[in-house]
Amino acid sequence: MRKILIYVAMIFLVIMVVYGLFFSFDKKQTEQKVAILPKISSIKKKVSDHLKNFPNVYSTDWNLQLVNSEHEVSDQEINLEVIQGNFQLDARIIEKTEKLLEAAKKAGIPLQILSAYRTISYQEQLVKKDIYQNIAKGMTEEEAKQQTYRLLSKPGHSEHHLGLAIDVVDQDYYQQHGAQLLPEIVSTSKGALWLKENAADFGFILRYLQGKEEITKINYEAWHYRYVGEEVAKYLMLNSLTLEEFHKKLEQLGRQ
Ligand SMILES: [Zn+2]
Repeated sequence: MRKILIYVAMIFLVIMVVYGLFFSFDKKQTEQKVAILPKISSIKKKVSDHLKNFPNVYSTDWNLQLVNSEHEVSDQEINLEVIQGNFQLDARIIEKTEKLLEAAKKAGIPLQILSAYRTISYQEQLVKKDIYQNIAKGMTEEEAKQQTYRLLSKPGHSEHHLGLAIDVVDQDYYQQHGAQLLPEIVSTSKGALWLKENAADFGFILRYLQGKEEITKINYEAWHYRYVGEEVAKYLMLNSLTLEEFHKKLEQLGRQ
């Protein structure tokens, strides 16, 4: 009888131990699940927010035209208007650009436009001059061309032909360096830093991003801003996307 009691007690003990182990293991898993759950839901929320905030636009919209090494500017008439004395831009973005210049001035960082609308023949002159300068520095013609096209688009392939892009620096920079664009110095200038933070509020994007040179085929240019409209500019800025990548997304969504 005592033996039976001992057996029963042992069996009971074994059951308790096994149950205890199982229970604590299960509890751990539950805790892990609880810890993972908010992460998954926050990621889901992030993704859905991005989709929800995806701008309701089409790749054919006038302000989203893609012009780069692969896409030539289409033959179109542009209604140009003057800005900052001797520059011209598409009349539809004059007001926004003026507001951008005003806001920078209010922030104590007055800006200077260095280039805006360019004709194809003017781009030809710029490219030729730059190639000659590179040859004069000792480069072969091929090397000179390669170097030039990392910073200047081929004639017909520049956003400046659209009248929707500006090269812009702060006036302090302009007083020290003139119209010469020195990449390292511009990128750390206060004008460039202010623009990076604020240009999207006026519909402009930093067009040639650092680290995305393989996509844009143009070196990082802290001075080149392109008008795409406020909604798209903010979306691109928040998601660190180039206009090329945005056009791909539009294509995937059938927004052509
Ligand atoms: Zn430019």
